[in-house]
Amino acid sequence: MILTINPATGKTLRTYTQHSDQMILDALAHAHTAQLAWRETPLAERVVLLNRLAEMLREKSEQYARLMSEEMGKTIRSARAEIEKCAWACEVYATHATSWLAEETVAADGRKHRIVIEPLGVILAVMPWNFPFWQVIRFLVPALLTGNGALLKHASNVTGSALGIQKIINEAGFPAGLFATILATHQQVEQIIAHPLCQGVSLTGSTEAGKTIAATAGKYLKKVVLELGGSDPLIVLADADVATAAKATVAGRFRNNGQSCIAAKRVIVQQEVQAAYMHALLAEVEKLVMGDPLAEETDIGPLVNEQAAEKMEQFVADAFEKGAVVQTGGKRQGAYFFPTVLTNVTAEMAVLTEEVFGPVIPVIVAQTENEVVALANNTRFGLGASVWSQDLAHGERVARKLEAGAVFVNGITKSDPRMPFGGIKESGLGRELSRWGLREFANIKTINVY
Ligand code: NAP
Repeated sequence: MILTINPATGKTLRTYTQHSDQMILDALAHAHTAQLAWRETPLAERVVLLNRLAEMLREKSEQYARLMSEEMGKTIRSARAEIEKCAWACEVYATHATSWLAEETVAADGRKHRIVIEPLGVILAVMPWNFPFWQVIRFLVPALLTGNGALLKHASNVTGSALGIQKIINEAGFPAGLFATILATHQQVEQIIAHPLCQGVSLTGSTEAGKTIAATAGKYLKKVVLELGGSDPLIVLADADVATAAKATVAGRFRNNGQSCIAAKRVIVQQEVQAAYMHALLAEVEKLVMGDPLAEETDIGPLVNEQAAEKMEQFVADAFEKGAVVQTGGKRQGAYFFPTVLTNVTAEMAVLTEEVFGPVIPVIVAQTENEVVALANNTRFGLGASVWSQDLAHGERVARKLEAGAVFVNGITKSDPRMPFGGIKESGLGRELSRWGLREFANIKTINVY
């Protein structure tokens, strides 16, 4: 039995029944049959369906935004923006499909040498709750466009969204069975990965889940893409515009109620501007409105559940015991956690060694630029980073020294369907989005004519 619970009210939304092994095997077999026909469908027809999906997402934006907000607590404004981003991603792939999937010709030792991109088959997606529509669309659109089929095992607390995605894909006109949501247990996930009809697995989630899924994929030798946790640094260099950097810190850290893989989870500020930056940061934090995620004025809603808010209490308590100063926040109310800023933070505190998935900003002060870079890279994660400097060339020089999949100079870390997205170190393997994402679940095949 799966229960979905509204974190803002604590009330049960719905109950669902887990799928049986047989239902899951049937879904896999149907996806395989549908995929064999789908891979022969002309690209132009796939593109028409993507554009229709974009239209339908926009038409139903309010319905799906509300569903996400009720299931996991994101603010209604950010939920609408998430649906709009999904529609945009469909359009970006529709626009670039022909060039991003184009065959290449190579001069070698024969008459003709071509590189063609072919689908792999049915891919399993295991997805997290924090962006219930976006994470799935980000995987699914390129996977289907390449000619694959897919099964989705979503986080169980967003089962309504998982079934909503299945419905909208069907309504957009994709072939029946090509994509299916399955309500599967962790054990059933392993059974799917083991099955010969499953050709790969894409997991977005915690590093712990990533290690388990990677081990299973390795055991059965299946292609794997992992989009995992992060502890992104936001760096305020001595020549930064501190007011802009402070505003960006608040936007980058507190979006999605602090629960984003690419949130600015560690602030590193150079000593020269530390006082001015802290003053601006605390003023920005005080402006945030915490409350009902469905209310238009709300900036910060609840965390995904009460345990997540308790985890934030533990992070703050650990830091406090080891000498940190709580500048603001630090308190919990049910599943809500007040936006928190910590100073006097040191390397042994869990707020720096772990991924903090909630609205807490630890601020670290660095004396020199070398120290900034060393602190930023002193993490097992390597997802994103953000650097603030009024000298763009300087910002770019620092960006090149950072161990991350994406660095933004004078911008907060974000994903964009036109750019590859993914991490290094314990933040993951492989890339999603852009033309790079299209090549992950593909057979990059050569045809050589002599
Ligand atoms: P999670 O607990 O790792 O769960 C993610 C998904 O994996 C869920 O569907 C979960 O199913 C499933 N899962 C977990 N362990 C599994 C196992 N042993 N076997 C099979 N399936 C398993 O992560 P979350 O709490 O949902 O999401 C937050 C995490 O995701 C954070 O670490 C965040 O940084 C990361 N994230 C990364 C990105 C990125 O692009 N790099 C994007 C978004 C989120 P159940 O719900 O049934 O347990």
